Amino acid sequence: MKRGTERTDVVIVGAGFTGLSAALELKKAGIDFVLLEARDRAGGRVESRQNGLGERIDSGGQFLCEDMPELMALLQARGKTLVETHVEGEFVTQPRMSANQGERIFVASMAIRDRMNTIAPDDPDIAGLTVAAWLERQSDPDEVKAAFRSMIEGLWCQALERMPLWHLIDNDRRITNEVSELQYLVRETMHSLADDLARDLGDRLRLNAAVETIENGPEGVRLVTAAGAIEARSTLVAVPPVMASKLDFVPAAPAALERALGVWQSGAVIKVLVRYPTAFWRARGLSGMVMWRDLPGLFACDVSKDDDHAALVVFIGGPLALRWREFGDAKLRGELTARLQDALGAEAAGIIDLSYRDWTHDRWSGGAYSDLIVDATATDAERIILAGAPPVYFASSELSPSFPGYVEGAIVAGRIAARKIIADVQSAIATSASGS
Ligand SMILES: Cc1cc2nc3c(=O)[nH]c(=O)nc-3n(C[C@H](O)[C@H](O)[C@H](O)COP(=O)(O)OP(=O)(O)OC[C@H]3O[C@@H](n4cnc5c(N)ncnc54)[C@H](O)[C@@H]3O)c2cc1C
Repeated sequence: MKRGTERTDVVIVGAGFTGLSAALELKKAGIDFVLLEARDRAGGRVESRQNGLGERIDSGGQFLCEDMPELMALLQARGKTLVETHVEGEFVTQPRMSANQGERIFVASMAIRDRMNTIAPDDPDIAGLTVAAWLERQSDPDEVKAAFRSMIEGLWCQALERMPLWHLIDNDRRITNEVSELQYLVRETMHSLADDLARDLGDRLRLNAAVETIENGPEGVRLVTAAGAIEARSTLVAVPPVMASKLDFVPAAPAALERALGVWQSGAVIKVLVRYPTAFWRARGLSGMVMWRDLPGLFACDVSKDDDHAALVVFIGGPLALRWREFGDAKLRGELTARLQDALGAEAAGIIDLSYRDWTHDRWSGGAYSDLIVDATATDAERIILAGAPPVYFASSELSPSFPGYVEGAIVAGRIAARKIIADVQSAIATSASGS
């Protein structure tokens, strides 16, 4: 050990919900740790910004439902207020069709999803198949397939042509909510929960501390940032797989691990919050929820917090986000306003604020809700990453046994990884105590 280098038991890399959840566990277990975060804030893909009206809005992860027990419990413990998402009224599908026809198409597209999920992810008949290739083989009407595509590209922010079918099935089976995942939002913002958790960590959390290199030697690990180095018995890399693949491991990570980290790709999403003076769509019998079948990946819903806060969120996901980000600010705003007018009526032009966050190519978390495996042969990638290269471990929402790609998944993933590390560290401490 070099003189003057800080030393701790565990270094966690990344203060998203995975890293924060792991930190909570280590703190409870009385293990010494440091949490290094590249950005100037905690929360990762959960983030808030001020809109043009000076209101703090969730520009990243926002929704949850009662079937997400860990997140629900944390929010309750921190005294946060849940706002029920307004869903009463007609769900508009664009181009416009009757409510009955829209409902019929939605039900039929969900039936495709259910049919897909009856296939075992390791069924040899689907080896190498992408979701797009599988969809092509289905005999459903084109309009139903288009709705399925829009739903999946919107949810996973990735072109169906790139998604291995087994991976989507495997993920979908871990997302077990019975009620809508859009059931609630948090009045104080979801990001305020990350801030609360971060505050409890005091000086164990170091912001603006991007880890560049992880050295692995006989005395443990050494993590190097621009500001210096920290040594530890063990480290948890709590960043999405694409970000983990960018770290410099010395010596190089085992070839299988390097390959497993390299088969992921970030999706693409632009999240838009549109404020109106009133929730005018409700008076017209509309829920505010819109799915554009002609623009797969475009979806809107009501995120009004109360009568004084009428708002819609619009997600631009997948290949559409990559195309629309090229429009530039004025054209993007014009396009969004025109699409909302088509769907909800002329009043949709009466916007009082339109703020958006372009996550595509985000430097520290990738471009969307989650990274996805894009190599159809990489069926063992998750298992290999989860095994890690002790004392270097990996966790992120993507790697969670429940709700991968969600905040709930991040909390679960961080906790599981922390428990593994706690057991290792406690046994190492016991060994060194008995040897001394
Ligand atoms: C626009 C958007 C909307 C979403 N909506 C929802 C939603 O409504 N509900 C829901 O449940 N989920 C939603 N999600 C997904 C959810 O936010 C994520 O799944 C979850 O927050 C991921 O947590 P994580 O800790 O695994 O990863 P991250 O949040 O990505 O955290 C990783 C952290 O590591 C840091 N980092 C990266 N590299 C380094 C490095 N080299 N050194 C130090 N630090 C590093 C990053 O800055 C980041 O803070 C949304 C995501 C986005 C982007």
